[in-house]
Amino acid sequence: MQCEDLVAYLSDYIDRDLDEELVQAAREHLATCPNCHIVLDSTERMLHFARQSGPQSIPVGRRQKLFDELQAAFLTRQPPPANPTD
Ligand SMILES: [Zn+2]
Repeated sequence: MQCEDLVAYLSDYIDRDLDEELVQAAREHLATCPNCHIVLDSTERMLHFARQSGPQSIPVGRRQKLFDELQAAFLTRQPPPANPTD
């Protein structure tokens, strides 16, 4: 599994709404990828906090948008700037 796949499945993974096979693949990726581990951790925290603030505090549409943004941010990550040589 790649980072892109992990992020794509993240919502379902957190909701425990993923096939066992994919859960296993996600866990294996998370064990070896600190970046995705951080993304999962912060997303779970955020959702946990949102749930504590009250039910429906994050409407489904808004939540989906959040995951879309997360995914877009992940996919458009820029490499670190190279030192200018000229
Ligand atoms: Zn990853």
